[in-house]
Amino acid sequence: MTTTSENIIETRGLTKRFGQRVAVAGVDVSVPRGCAFGFLGHNGAGKTTLIRLLLGLTQADAGTMQIAGRPIPQERAQVLARVGAIVEEPHFHGHLTGRENLRVIAAARDPQAVSRIDGALQRVGLSDRAGDRVRTYSQGMRQRLGVARCLLAEPELLILDEPMNGLDPGGILEFRKMIAELVGEGRTVFLSSHLLDEVEKTCDAAAVIDRGRVIAQGSIGELVRSEHAELEIGCDRPELALDLLDSHDGVAAAQRIDDGIRVTLSSNDGAASINARLVQGGVAVFRLTPVRESLEQRFLEITSQIGDPQ
Ligand code: ATP
Repeated sequence: MTTTSENIIETRGLTKRFGQRVAVAGVDVSVPRGCAFGFLGHNGAGKTTLIRLLLGLTQADAGTMQIAGRPIPQERAQVLARVGAIVEEPHFHGHLTGRENLRVIAAARDPQAVSRIDGALQRVGLSDRAGDRVRTYSQGMRQRLGVARCLLAEPELLILDEPMNGLDPGGILEFRKMIAELVGEGRTVFLSSHLLDEVEKTCDAAAVIDRGRVIAQGSIGELVRSEHAELEIGCDRPELALDLLDSHDGVAAAQRIDDGIRVTLSSNDGAASINARLVQGGVAVFRLTPVRESLEQRFLEITSQIGDPQ
């Protein structure tokens, strides 16, 4: 695991109980700087509670948290000055325009916030609609206005609780593009979601939370990497290919598929030597594709390994 200075969020043994129920159970999360990080779990898994802990909105029963290397809740005020967060659906004055809403908020902050309004509206793709009343906005536009509000603080970290909930496919696409741009500017975006597909498409890395516990975390590539990587090999003489690979060290199993064979590797670096063996043995290889599990398959595998609900 990376060191503190590389991680913008770090929690250790973080625990929160509501009566008998443990909503967050000894959670260690490390969020690297400058990435989109997904906090993935079913409804009730503990995502909102962890976010509320990070923002100092509720008190932990045990454990420690750091944002940008500083302890929370001890240095909450200084730390949160550079953090933008949307925990619930953002509320705006419907009778005011998007720009007017941001002016009201900026006026209550530091003087520089006012000068950031136009840039923030542009960044979230609302420049064209900034003069319209917010009550005419779609849910996706309100969410993006919420992000624009966060940007008034020039945050290095954005914490967004289920930001894509209820958005239509077009809204999701725009939101995803906006997140990529925010990360491109060097910010970190931490977002919670129960939408596996969205986390896979939007985030560079993720933690999977199940009944208050983090059961897996890492880059999306690491999370979806199966223990037994597989290759699909399109080739002209599949029976010969199976014979040639029968005694190959890098092959744990192999079988016929429509246009060739499917191979389960015994190590992750066997593809090149398998290819060489086939070609030298007289098999024409026209396709060699690693079989990648989707995050959804992986999520179902790991969450189902956990015992009965507490
Ligand atoms: P969702 O996606 O449905 O919002 P979540 O992953 O954000 O779910 P949390 O809202 O953090 O989950 O809830 C985790 C657990 O803690 C749930 O069992 C929930 O019922 C419980 N919980 C959360 N807040 C409270 C509270 N204020 N009082 C009692 N129990 C709570």
